[in-house]
Amino acid sequence: MQKINIAGKIEQQVSLSKYTTLRVGGPAAYYAEPVSTLDLVTLVNSLVRSGCPYYPLGSGSNLLVSDSGYEGCIISLRRMNRVAVRGLFLTAGAGALMDKLITVTAEKRISGLESFTGIPGTLGGCIATNAGAYGKDVGSLVEWVDFLSVSGEMHRLFRDDKGFNYRISPFMGSGAVITEAALRLSSGNSAGIQRSLSKFQNDRKGKGYYEYPTAGSIFKNPAGIEITAGELIDTLGLKGYAVGDAQISSVHGNIIVNKGKASAQDIARLIDHVKAVVFREIGISLEEEIVRLGSF
Ligand SMILES: Cc1cc2nc3c(=O)[nH]c(=O)nc-3n(C[C@H](O)[C@H](O)[C@H](O)COP(=O)(O)OP(=O)(O)OC[C@H]3O[C@@H](n4cnc5c(N)ncnc54)[C@H](O)[C@@H]3O)c2cc1C
Repeated sequence: MQKINIAGKIEQQVSLSKYTTLRVGGPAAYYAEPVSTLDLVTLVNSLVRSGCPYYPLGSGSNLLVSDSGYEGCIISLRRMNRVAVRGLFLTAGAGALMDKLITVTAEKRISGLESFTGIPGTLGGCIATNAGAYGKDVGSLVEWVDFLSVSGEMHRLFRDDKGFNYRISPFMGSGAVITEAALRLSSGNSAGIQRSLSKFQNDRKGKGYYEYPTAGSIFKNPAGIEITAGELIDTLGLKGYAVGDAQISSVHGNIIVNKGKASAQDIARLIDHVKAVVFREIGISLEEEIVRLGSF
């Protein structure tokens, strides 16, 4: 690939295990951190000209990257993290962390993001995966989203043409890179916001999200039945089941933890085992919420 001049950094042969919350994943041929939309456009256009595939990365908190890594350029949005609040609108770069957005809005007594406390994702990642918790999803708050399309042009998607659904967004698998977005929030009061934050944070801690490296929920909740994916897995006695150092959390059936030296392959085998048991015993095909990158 020809040398690309951007203000941010570009490195070669970067292990992705340090950029995923599961702490697994082989090397990326290239790893870039653009600092602005202009930088990103320059980078992507150069990659396209070189025939080098690319993949956007937030916090890597919903990703299972293969042990053999990614033969292309990982584009981390982490440096594009500017945040601004105007009235009840929050505008932020795709790389801004959800917890930072919650702190900034809570300080201004603006409500709407409390249910997402403790989700370790970026705004871009949360929009791309339509992250949700406690009955609310990020897509329902979107006012507009700016993104770089696969054809190399910047576009803005407005609230009206949103196409968000349960863990589905118009961006998932589209090849687009979200650069910035605005969320429409509501006015609140400090005591109410803090009460909600404490309630959700305590609930999350009790579910064992933070004891070991994880990627949050592995499976989507199956449609059309009352029982959650976690409850199904628990009912079938799979809590604690392990492949190598990858284990179904002993606290929550829908979380896989890396007890230390798990490989991506261990995690993939564990996922496949759970799917096979659930299908054999109950006839339900569990769908993965986690996103896989690379070959398995
Ligand atoms: C402890 C823990 C708790 C969690 N709790 C929840 C929860 O309650 N609810 C929930 O929904 N999820 C939860 N998750 C999963 C995860 O945090 C969310 O899915 C989050 O939205 C992922 O954001 P990210 O920035 O880490 O995205 P990544 O994992 O980096 O990427 C996920 C996908 O989004 C794409 N993407 C990322 N950034 C962009 C961008 N700028 N433009 C285009 N595409 C992009 C990636 O290419 C990839 O396909 C949890 C994870 C952990 C580890």
